[in-house]
Amino acid sequence: MSASLSTVAYIGATILFILSLGGLSNPETARRGNLFGMIGMGLAVLATILGPRVTAAGVPWIVGALVVGGAIGLYAARKVQMTQMPELVALMHSLVGLAACLVGFASYVDTSVQYTGAEKAIHEMEIYIGILIGAVTFSGSIVAFGKLSGKIGGKPLLLPARHWINLLGLLVVIWFGRQFLQAHSVSEGMTPLLVMTVIALLFGIHMVAAIGGADMPVVVSMLNSYSGWAAAATGFMLSNDLLIVTGALVGSSGAILSYIMCRAMNRNFFSVIAGGFGGGAPAAAKGDAAAQPAGEVVPISAAETAELLRDSRSVIIVPGYGMAVAQAQHTVYEITKLLRDKGVNVRFAIHPVAGRMPGHMNVLLAEAKVPYDIVMEMDEINADFPDADVTMVIGANDIVNPAAQDDPGSPIAGMPVLEVWKAKTSIVMKRSMASGYAGVDNPLFYKENNRMLFGDAKKMLDEVLTALKA
Ligand code: NDP
Repeated sequence: MSASLSTVAYIGATILFILSLGGLSNPETARRGNLFGMIGMGLAVLATILGPRVTAAGVPWIVGALVVGGAIGLYAARKVQMTQMPELVALMHSLVGLAACLVGFASYVDTSVQYTGAEKAIHEMEIYIGILIGAVTFSGSIVAFGKLSGKIGGKPLLLPARHWINLLGLLVVIWFGRQFLQAHSVSEGMTPLLVMTVIALLFGIHMVAAIGGADMPVVVSMLNSYSGWAAAATGFMLSNDLLIVTGALVGSSGAILSYIMCRAMNRNFFSVIAGGFGGGAPAAAKGDAAAQPAGEVVPISAAETAELLRDSRSVIIVPGYGMAVAQAQHTVYEITKLLRDKGVNVRFAIHPVAGRMPGHMNVLLAEAKVPYDIVMEMDEINADFPDADVTMVIGANDIVNPAAQDDPGSPIAGMPVLEVWKAKTSIVMKRSMASGYAGVDNPLFYKENNRMLFGDAKKMLDEVLTALKA
């Protein structure tokens, strides 16, 4: 394939990636968006393999890597449960970071192309920054994977003077950057490059380890953005325009998502970028005992729940992480259909950080074929809770915690929540009195108009459905 044909293919792939991102912004066009993305990626891979920069000797290596990588991807996609998706995504981000580091070291030791003057300085700067971003993304994503999969505890690691440690790390990285650029040979430059890599790895670990449970959504979307910038940096190192554009698309869309998540968590975007987040974390560490609300909870049976639902005019369903764990979305939809057939106005309220990844609940509800027009964002529906007869909270906890509004000392203070307690009756469906991801007790459970339906969400909803049909 000639250089100009490969450029045309790259432009085509870029357009497809942009159309893909556009499609993914709406559940109704998401399938098409995915398709555009797949075709774009196929085109990009083909144009690269057949392009002028790959020699015949390199093709078997690329095909071998494609087969191995494709087989692992296929296996993971078939095996991984929906609830494990966030940790899989974190693991994939770490691979992008690792790739950026490896490409950086490889292009530094590769002396087949000799750079001189300004070109040499620019190339080495690309390598230094590329490895820096790659290493932070790699180690940060590994810790995020550990936290999301429960292998590492959710409590924030709070080293004394942690901001000063970060600042010192930054200064050392800048100083070694200068040494690196002034090095006269690869062996001379290798030491500062390795020292910077170690510091960047430690910084990535420290950055994510210092984050409290409730702030994790912001970290997940930030790492998403970092992985894009790491890919763009790899594109600069390899002089591959498509990789630069694709990386920039992922990096900037991840940054926009981070901004949206920050707003959802009521965190300041710029303090997040500067690494000043997790401010609420110290309270999280000691808050558990202090925040224990007093009072008793009132249990309810599945049959009584069905009775209440049947007598309602308006029902709002709030799904959370527990619905994903129980895989209860299909039963939820069965109940929704039944109630709507009886003339009940049923709507879903989606909190932006519900579940364990952005859009988690939307994906589950779309899978169960819940119509999009009854799935509402938090801002659209929060004012409607006082008019609802029943709100059914299915495996959600932090996103419906009134302590976010009432308790300034709470680790989730200031986070906008779904005001389910304003309905005539709220029913919380969960297995025990355990707290949610943020580890904070929930005063909602003790409110007078709240009832607790204890048990696995799928099992209890099956019972509710049977009672409704009876
Ligand atoms: P939470 O983690 O706050 O609560 C989930 C609840 O589900 C638990 O209290 C649990 O209680 C219950 N549960 C678990 N399994 C079942 C089951 N089989 N049947 C019934 N209930 C079950 O989830 P939310 O969705 O309310 O909030 C999301 C939290 O996750 C927030 O703190 C958010 O910051 C954080 N987060 C979100 C991310 C995102 O991008 N969306 C990423 C990372 C973190 P019990 O054990 O008693 O059943």
